[in-house]
Amino acid sequence: MHMEQTLILMKPDTIEKHLTGLVLSRLEALGLEIVAAKATVTTRALWEEHYANLKGKPFLNSVIDFMMGNFNHLPDHRIYAFVLRGENAISKVRAALGATNPEQADPWTLRGQFGCIKNDVMQNAVHASGTVEDAAREIALWFKPEEILP
Ligand code: UDP
Ligand code: MG
Repeated sequence: MHMEQTLILMKPDTIEKHLTGLVLSRLEALGLEIVAAKATVTTRALWEEHYANLKGKPFLNSVIDFMMGNFNHLPDHRIYAFVLRGENAISKVRAALGATNPEQADPWTLRGQFGCIKNDVMQNAVHASGTVEDAAREIALWFKPEEILP
């Protein structure tokens, strides 16, 4: 067992549907601690750093447009970001999310329940770090050290 931290981002589809609290509640109920939380307005530069691992992928630009809320008619480019901490937090949260494509996500997972089922892999409700390395990089990108509980 490993004490881990993972970055959670509520995606614009979840924000627009007012499901942020519900999704966070389901993740917290895994036994994880909320050690950082913020509402923030994002920029394209932030997303390019966040998705550095997707550089060169044909879908990257549309993913960034989507993450900026451009398809969801949000009043700004807001995102709700959290750091969750606990034993095996990264793999626990990824298991709770389900597959990247909501159509393939099991029906008891967050993406299976709240992702868009109209063949739109982008609209999958929530982001969570995939690996220990990604988590460290992503948390440092979204939060200052003093914004995270010790
Ligand atoms: N994505 C997409 N088309 C693809 C693969 C991914 O639009 O073919 C989007 C989707 O929103 C996904 C994000 O890009 O959540 C990041 O992709 P990744 O492979 O890291 O999936 P995740 O880690 O989010 O499950
Ligand atoms: Mg990923």
